[in-house]
Amino acid sequence: MDEIKNTTATENDEYLVEVNNLVKWFPIKAGFFKHTVGNVRAVDGISFKIKRGTTMGLVGESGCGKSTTGRTLLRLQGKTSGEVTFDGIDIFSLSKEELRKIRPRIQIIFQDPYSSLSPRLPVGEIIGEAVREHNIVPSSEYDEYITRVMEVCGLPAYYKSRYPHEFSGGQRQRICIARALALSPEFIVCDEPVSALDVSIQAQIINLLRDLQKQFGLTYLFISHDLSVVEHISDTVGVMYLGDMVEFSETEKIYSDPLHPYTKALFSAIPIPDPDYQMNRIILEGSIPSPANPPSGCKFHTRCSECMETCKYVTPKYREVRPGHFCACHLYNSEEENREYAGQLDELKAKAEAEAATNAKKLKSASKEKAMKSLND
Ligand code: SF4
Repeated sequence: MDEIKNTTATENDEYLVEVNNLVKWFPIKAGFFKHTVGNVRAVDGISFKIKRGTTMGLVGESGCGKSTTGRTLLRLQGKTSGEVTFDGIDIFSLSKEELRKIRPRIQIIFQDPYSSLSPRLPVGEIIGEAVREHNIVPSSEYDEYITRVMEVCGLPAYYKSRYPHEFSGGQRQRICIARALALSPEFIVCDEPVSALDVSIQAQIINLLRDLQKQFGLTYLFISHDLSVVEHISDTVGVMYLGDMVEFSETEKIYSDPLHPYTKALFSAIPIPDPDYQMNRIILEGSIPSPANPPSGCKFHTRCSECMETCKYVTPKYREVRPGHFCACHLYNSEEENREYAGQLDELKAKAEAEAATNAKKLKSASKEKAMKSLND
């Protein structure tokens, strides 16, 4: 099974993946000439690093930009700006051919194991297709290699000739993991890999991912909205809200002492298996705002119980509040910063209001045009 282990990593570098100020906006087009009238700011300038052989959990409500982050990291879609470095290589500077060569090293496991598997191919072919394409092993060893990869993932060799519809959800997710593992990856984005599975099966898949990580030194970005699962599997955790990274730290620190009001509200909803435990759940008011026209200043201010005047107009800096614990919130400003912001408040308020009005106007005219078009059609 040593062949599956990657040998290309430079063991000295502490971080395998580095993301600097990554932005991914989706343009909103309108009019006859399809000009851009706005942007859905799915990912709005986030930065983080993942150490080799560790798991970073990425959490947040639906629509916060977690999955877009994962797909952009792997260059499954373009970026708007920013930098993604994998093993010291700038992913977005690679040519098509260079990207093809690096693909086996960076893999993804999707949420829905059924729709991500071709129903027309038998399991052996699904797992082996890319192995042949990338010449991972000599053709004389191909069969034996696929058998070993399947066994490592808990799939008996006789499953090779069966089709995806013959399997349960958990087994299908094992097939997806085997397909990714067969390419000897170093980094795997796990995009909600257990969300579609029963709780007992979830535990099996999580344990399998952990075993494989230990065995092959894999690095994971684990995207999930299930905070208990993320706590169980992750070494570090990043919390996203409306395209921003609002908090990042080691799992133990962030779960025991969250700093950001949004993280506190999220974590207060984690169920504790103790009937005598009194939960102090923080209920978030209102719904998540539109990423096409996000609130000015701190994007969370419309729902934050600790919102101050500064929060409405000044974007909080993402900074290291405690050693290794990053957060973007005005509650951790210095006295000097508070004085500085107070002095600029009127100017910033006018600017933010003008910007919001222009954005709203553009989006309104775009949706009016769309409605007119659908009526004419
Ligand atoms: Fe709440 Fe202000 Fe902190 Fe945003 S910056 S989370 S509104 S206290």
